[in-house]
Amino acid sequence: MKTKFKFALPILAMALPFAGMAAEIEEWQKAEVTEVWEPVPEVVTFGKNNIPSDAIVLFDGTSLNNWQSANGGEAKWLLKDGAMTVAAGTGDIKTKDTFCDAQLHVEWKMPTQITNEKGELLTGQGRNNSGVFFQQRYEIQVLDSYNNKTYSNGQAGSVYKQHIPLVNATKAPGEWQSYDIIFTAPVFDAAGKLKSKARMTALHNGVVVQNNVEIQGATSWAGAPVYSAHGCDSIRLQDHGNPVSFRNMWLRKL
Ligand code: MG
Repeated sequence: MKTKFKFALPILAMALPFAGMAAEIEEWQKAEVTEVWEPVPEVVTFGKNNIPSDAIVLFDGTSLNNWQSANGGEAKWLLKDGAMTVAAGTGDIKTKDTFCDAQLHVEWKMPTQITNEKGELLTGQGRNNSGVFFQQRYEIQVLDSYNNKTYSNGQAGSVYKQHIPLVNATKAPGEWQSYDIIFTAPVFDAAGKLKSKARMTALHNGVVVQNNVEIQGATSWAGAPVYSAHGCDSIRLQDHGNPVSFRNMWLRKL
């Protein structure tokens, strides 16, 4: 008797969910009512370096063809070993194409040299600084923040002078690191009035450092950030006088 009961219980439990099935159900209770079949998301496949098939490759390590000097003319950064490196004093570079809302992947590497010609330790903002600017105006900081104190809203992963990164995920100099960034462009009306602010979500080495933060205007070294109307614009990389390297850059328009 005891053994029989042991088997009867699970059978009852399995049968229970179907008990009411014979009864008529109302239209809203049907599962298919909440199924949406269109549109069907496009299939994305993955190529070399895991680049999604719908991405625009901005830099694949072979040429600076997609780039120009921010002041016009040729990009003069150093192209070597599948990476591009800031050639100090040649100026910022920017993409020839312009972008609005976008997902960007970029890898960057700090030089292992953390002293100057006199052998003095580079500190704070002076330790190998660069930056990735969306629409040429909104900078996510690129800095050697590995054991290097600076103001928190200016360290690697910060939206410069606006948003402190949630954590410091910086790897040691000489190691490649990544940013994966989702940028929502600001919107201006026809008269140039700001309708919605820019936003950014950023992962540094796969770790969230900015979670849908609101950008208060063009990032600026001094003074409060201010918006002024603009359209889609280039991705710009900063020449801050330090040999910071970049590779494997791709972007998806959103
Ligand atoms: Mg910078």
